[in-house]
Amino acid sequence: RYYLISSFLMLFLTAAAFYLLIRLMKNQQLYAQAKLTFTSNMTHELQTPISTISVALESIKKYHLIDQPEKLENYINISVHELQRLQSMIEKVLKQEQMDLGETQLQLSLIDVQPILQQVISAMDVQVKAKNASLVFLPSDEPLFIKGDAMHISNVFYNLIDNALKYSPARAKIEVSFSIADRQLTISFKDNGPGINEIYLQQVFERFFRIFNQDNIHNVKGSGLGLHYVKQVITLHGGRVDLHSKAGKGCNFMVILPLYEEN
Ligand code: ADP
Repeated sequence: RYYLISSFLMLFLTAAAFYLLIRLMKNQQLYAQAKLTFTSNMTHELQTPISTISVALESIKKYHLIDQPEKLENYINISVHELQRLQSMIEKVLKQEQMDLGETQLQLSLIDVQPILQQVISAMDVQVKAKNASLVFLPSDEPLFIKGDAMHISNVFYNLIDNALKYSPARAKIEVSFSIADRQLTISFKDNGPGINEIYLQQVFERFFRIFNQDNIHNVKGSGLGLHYVKQVITLHGGRVDLHSKAGKGCNFMVILPLYEEN
């Protein structure tokens, strides 16, 4: 009997080990696949500004634009703009790398979330108008203080509103609102875009993850790093990010942060 139990146990353990090994391999395979896609997306995205700059410079040379100040200025402006874009893409990848290595130190101070959010919203006004979208902000009457890193928190807001705009069709309606319960602040970013299929609700926060089989979405460029960054920053602040969504039903990203309490 002892022999039977121990052989059964051995069999069970071997099967469990085998199962875990296969899962690990599958995860690594998925990760390698995601990383490969990321590299090819990124290469593609880096190539666009580089070729624009090189066409601009070649045209200056070929058509002697040095003698035509107006055209020259136009080509220089285009090049400077594309260089800035390149720089910000590279910074984004480097920042993410630092964060993944645990090298990011938050610069914590007492911050009021509301003016930070308002600043991000005004900075995005041009993008909102360009898409004929409407961004409704429902302010709170009281100050909303947290212990946080203003720069990272502002990036989080930017990423979530940017996604809502990017993935929604024209005339999107985005709503940003606050609520407070049990000394926790919830900032909700709601859109009426294509939404996310329930099976991806966790995965969208993984590094490099993008949904490929959702019709209109992936003509949109991206790196699959935005939501991973959002989750990391909010977790480092002692909070969490919840996502409610269904395919075709829009998204509601909820950033939940502990409110500052005076002792
Ligand atoms: P990126 O936008 O660079 O692809 P993110 O990490 O910000 O990377 O988002 C991961 C994926 O989640 C996106 O590729 C997209 O498929 C999906 N997603 C994110 N935000 C939204 C949204 N508001 N509506 C629909 N899909 C979204």
